[in-house]
Amino acid sequence: MSGKQNSALGEQLSPTSGKRNKTPKPESRLAMVRRARRINRELADAYPYAHPELDFENAFQLLIATVLSAQTTDLRVNQTTPALFAKYPTPEDLAAAEPEAVEEIIRPTGFFRAKTRSIMGLSAAIRDDFGGEVPGRLKDLVTLPGVGRKTAFVVLGNAFGVPGITVDTHFMRLARRWKWTDQDDPVKIEAEIATIFPKSEWTMLSHRVIFHGRRICHARRPACGACPITHLCPAYGEGETDPEKARKLLKYEKGGQPGQRLKPPPDYPGKPAPALGAIE
Ligand code: SF4
Repeated sequence: MSGKQNSALGEQLSPTSGKRNKTPKPESRLAMVRRARRINRELADAYPYAHPELDFENAFQLLIATVLSAQTTDLRVNQTTPALFAKYPTPEDLAAAEPEAVEEIIRPTGFFRAKTRSIMGLSAAIRDDFGGEVPGRLKDLVTLPGVGRKTAFVVLGNAFGVPGITVDTHFMRLARRWKWTDQDDPVKIEAEIATIFPKSEWTMLSHRVIFHGRRICHARRPACGACPITHLCPAYGEGETDPEKARKLLKYEKGGQPGQRLKPPPDYPGKPAPALGAIE
């Protein structure tokens, strides 16, 4: 009879002493895929309400909000876009705006001059090349100024229902912690993850992983002691394992705080984010 196995680590426990054997058994590809899919299922239980954390009402708004979210938080973008979309509701309106007026509105998101050039440039391209409608194909979206694959997948997945994997900083960190990949390059990570999960899961998987990275599995101090998937995680112990201390590290609805969206979906269990200027 073989010893007990820790499914996350592929290590053998001695049947007599119960102690961990010195040489861990490497996890097979099949075992990793099973473990990865189980993580996805358990994250679905932990975050049944996972969603994009940018406020938007149509594909154009989501595209603009995603471009503005570079180097800042979704909260800051959500606090900024209501004034922008009220003044410039269509690509035509934004393409014809005074750049200084746009810069003034989006200033809180940082890099506001470059972002103004991008959002006005992509609005002009949508007006001139795509009849005023945001295109629903990857190859068209990536021709727009300031739009890379990550932005394009966010728009495709959430405004057009096209499955896509969003490899942002949280996704990269967690995929590596969970040993789904050892790549550093987002395009290579995306390609590897695509072989682990069925296409129908890609968009929601991305939301769940990003939710978990923002709330529990932080870059510097993951809240391991308050994590629902410790039994599946090879990186358990990289962060705070004391349950009491770990609970204090939780963010957004898991920590009893407001979320990032001013208008969250109806099933969101947390509080909406405050408007710009309100006490946060
Ligand atoms: S156990 Fe720790 S490192 Fe692993 S997913 Fe949970 S918080 Fe992240």
